[in-house]
Amino acid sequence: MPELPEVETVRRALEIGLDGLSVAGVDGHPVMMRRPLDVGLIASRIDGRRFTAARRRGKYLLVDFDGAGTLMIHLGMSGRLMLCETTEPILHHTHLTLSLSDGRELRFVDPRRFGFAHWLEPGEEDLDPSLAGLGVEPLDPDMEVLLPPLLHARRSPVKSLILDQHLIAGVGNIYAAEALWRAGIRPTRPGCRTSLTRLRRLAVTTREVIEEAVAQGGTTIRDYATPAGDFGYFAVRLQVYGKEGQPCPRCGRVLKDTRIAGRITVWCPHCQR
Ligand SMILES: [Zn+2]
Repeated sequence: MPELPEVETVRRALEIGLDGLSVAGVDGHPVMMRRPLDVGLIASRIDGRRFTAARRRGKYLLVDFDGAGTLMIHLGMSGRLMLCETTEPILHHTHLTLSLSDGRELRFVDPRRFGFAHWLEPGEEDLDPSLAGLGVEPLDPDMEVLLPPLLHARRSPVKSLILDQHLIAGVGNIYAAEALWRAGIRPTRPGCRTSLTRLRRLAVTTREVIEEAVAQGGTTIRDYATPAGDFGYFAVRLQVYGKEGQPCPRCGRVLKDTRIAGRITVWCPHCQR
């Protein structure tokens, strides 16, 4: 499943790849995805329109069209966007194809259909059920100020709080475990019993981990714009995730795994308190 850094990499690929282009045609068929795909509606709104921005909220991509509205795309478990020549073979499960003014195509492929492409009229973005409740963005420069008081006001384990989309958008299990290890905070520690200084440290390490992953993705950005592209976790140097039973890279003692709110968390009982 694409995590936030992968989605951010796709956003950057779209921002560069679609710059200055407009839509010269829309093709697809109605299909049941996580939200039903309404090709007719999308076509009626974007045909002939120019791309103006590619944004992201959490793991949702938001592609803006010159005053008409926004195409909201979620990649789900297996979704991919391909920016390619028309001669590229069309893959199975290509649900939506936008013909572009430079002769190429933007294709949305999703074999498992847990993703979706949904049209938002101007003003609908703030009301959308998936977007309305999203918390702060981990790449937002203000995150270090905004997040600590939110975590400090809650009793749940810090690990669960970092995964709570209403508090902070799009941080997955892998990045949460790494950020907690870097910050030296025990995953089970209640938010309200963690000092604001330590929570600020956690906000910093969370952003660092995500930024490093995006930077790694930047080097493979080309892959996301071609059919050869495939998702996989970026080669971030994971220190603890998936390494239970192995020595902690910092102190050498054995890393433990604990289940918190149904998710396995790997941590060091010596370094994380
Ligand atoms: Zn340790």
